[in-house]
Amino acid sequence: MYRAKKYGIKYQIYSHLMTKATLGLELEMDLRRALEGDEFELYFQPKIDTNSRRIVGTEALIRWLHPRKGVISPNDFIPIAEETGMILKIGDWVIQQACRQNKIWMDEGLLNVPISVNISPLQLWFGDIVKSIKEVLTQTGLPPDYLELEVTEGIAVQNEIQAIERLGALRELGIRIAVDDFGKGYSSLNSLRLFPADSLKVDKAFIDQLSIPNSEKNNQITKHIISLAHAIGLRVIAEGVESEEQFHCLKAFNCDEVQGYLFSRPIPEKEFRKLVPLQAT
Ligand code: C2E
Ligand code: MG
Ligand code: MG
Ligand code: MG
Repeated sequence: MYRAKKYGIKYQIYSHLMTKATLGLELEMDLRRALEGDEFELYFQPKIDTNSRRIVGTEALIRWLHPRKGVISPNDFIPIAEETGMILKIGDWVIQQACRQNKIWMDEGLLNVPISVNISPLQLWFGDIVKSIKEVLTQTGLPPDYLELEVTEGIAVQNEIQAIERLGALRELGIRIAVDDFGKGYSSLNSLRLFPADSLKVDKAFIDQLSIPNSEKNNQITKHIISLAHAIGLRVIAEGVESEEQFHCLKAFNCDEVQGYLFSRPIPEKEFRKLVPLQAT
């Protein structure tokens, strides 16, 4: 900023381009230190039952508390973690922490619901996720049906058969599978046909458009995604619910669960445990 002021607008533009180019490399080096340095933290966002408005699940969302840059969103570092292969270690850490935390809440009697973890396609393509999850469940004592994996249709881009086999093996263990960001990609229906799954999360893009003027087309699509999912035995969760209007729409469409800022943002564990008694199951 100091130099930008000194050299004026040209420098600012140049500096912005430089930042974009070097940011990736800088973050990559920092990522390697972050795991050892205890810089990752899980935030938690409740999943709310549409009828009772009670907590019926929790999604764990990773945050990077960077010593100089502050909180970095997963959208900014997961792609770099995937490019560098670091995602495998980070992914193991997330599963381990989420299972451990959920077992603590259950033992305390604070909350007795499944925890959902987002899985990168790379975790299904490489390594042995079935074995490592089995180990984590044994070590933490978390019952398998208290863990859910959220996967996107991206898993079917490569090694499709292996990815689907592994999801099947995990589901055999009793672990739940959710299809995340449904409707956002270009092969959503195919992923529904192929993936063994228990639930479907309707992408926020559909929820954003609910109950705004001239959104009849969007409403019909959303309504029919929900009935399609129900017809093949899946539960449906709406993500990114921000208003009562959206909530009422979804309730009218028989959506089973909702998640979004209307109920809670993803928050650190300390805050989450204060929220739970207010909305406990
Ligand atoms: P996602 O799994 O689809 O998670 C939903 C995202 O929407 C989260 O962003 C959440 O904070 C945000 N969100 C929830 N409710 C609302 C709302 O009402 N309004 C708005 N505007 N946003 C809402 P977040 O935490 O930044 O995560 C972004 C994505 O990063 C996730 O999307 C997921 O794909 C990925 N991600 C997060 N944690 C992990 C992780 O541990 N491992 C992997 N592989 N990916 C992760
Ligand atoms: Mg998710
Ligand atoms: Mg999602
Ligand atoms: Mg999403």
